[in-house]
Amino acid sequence: MKIIDLRSDTVTQPTPEMREAMSKAEVGDDVYGEDVTINRLQEMAAEMLGKEAGIFVPSGTMGNLIAVLSHCGRGDEVILGNKAHIFLYEAGGISALGGVHSQQLPNLDDGRIALEDIESGIRGSDPHDPVTRLIALENTHNRCGGSVLPLEYTNQVGELAKKHGLSYHLDGARVFNAAAALSVSAKEIAAPFDSVTFCLSKGLSAPVGSVLCGSKEFIAKAHRMRKQLGGGMRQAGVLAAAGIVSLEKMTERLGEDHARARKLADGLAGVSGLSLDKGTPHTNMIFMNLADHIDYSTSEVADHMHKQHGLRIGVTGKRRYRLVIHNWIDDDAVERTVAGFKKYLG
Ligand SMILES: *Cc1c(COP(=O)(O)O)cnc(C)c1O
Repeated sequence: MKIIDLRSDTVTQPTPEMREAMSKAEVGDDVYGEDVTINRLQEMAAEMLGKEAGIFVPSGTMGNLIAVLSHCGRGDEVILGNKAHIFLYEAGGISALGGVHSQQLPNLDDGRIALEDIESGIRGSDPHDPVTRLIALENTHNRCGGSVLPLEYTNQVGELAKKHGLSYHLDGARVFNAAAALSVSAKEIAAPFDSVTFCLSKGLSAPVGSVLCGSKEFIAKAHRMRKQLGGGMRQAGVLAAAGIVSLEKMTERLGEDHARARKLADGLAGVSGLSLDKGTPHTNMIFMNLADHIDYSTSEVADHMHKQHGLRIGVTGKRRYRLVIHNWIDDDAVERTVAGFKKYLG
């Protein structure tokens, strides 16, 4: 039985074209700046995001960490959402390793933070206060259902940052999904931000890596920080080669994932044992709960789906699941998923 893995878009395998490009990649010592494949990936990424420069990093977590540590010094403060990946899922790196203080403001259901909250959160000159240096947003917003921040909003927060002399970072792990959903270029989304991280290893299907983009000056700083964190890699052009295929071939197809997510959600809406989140899916993620009348536990259902139907789903709460569509989920997989749930949960 072919496994249908809906736990995350991080499970995506490199495409045959990526493996081919990896095997042929011209490489060099990237710490010396001599890996032509990495250089090319960085230039392409910067160009696509409308920034001067980019730096290839092993993970999105390191990209965000380098960004925050490049914008902020010890004791400085970053304003972010209380459901932000940087706050929840990056092992507290910004404070553990950078001594950066975080002010977590409530994320609205759609991934925004209220503008008033941001404005009133920005500190003045009182010596009791940490110094606010940075505002960080996330788009698409993972914990907020894969929701997409409207351009108008991200531009408004940018104005606010500018008015107060703050830096502005985007955790754009899935910024190309946001671009597909908004029918704009990633460049337009990235425009107001000083720095943007995005992942090659999720919907874009590369095996490893993220790119952090920003001004030349900022990326020069990021280089030192990456070295300090142990993220300076050598002939990593074998990885960057897959990332180039991601940027050339995979960004344009993300709309397909969103359409399949919609199809899957429509099918699952007909399963009485499931209750889908209002508005789901915004992009490539479906969030849903077990209905009250279902006596099985969340993990019993997940185990049954795995063993009987070859379906792997993400358990994200007491009665809650996340299903993520990606390049390896085709129409047949969508149908099998709906049929599997129907059979078990009615
Ligand atoms: C996955 C993810 C990251 C981190 O990426 P890793 O490569 O897993 O370290 C950061 N932010 C968001 C929103 C993510 O979904």
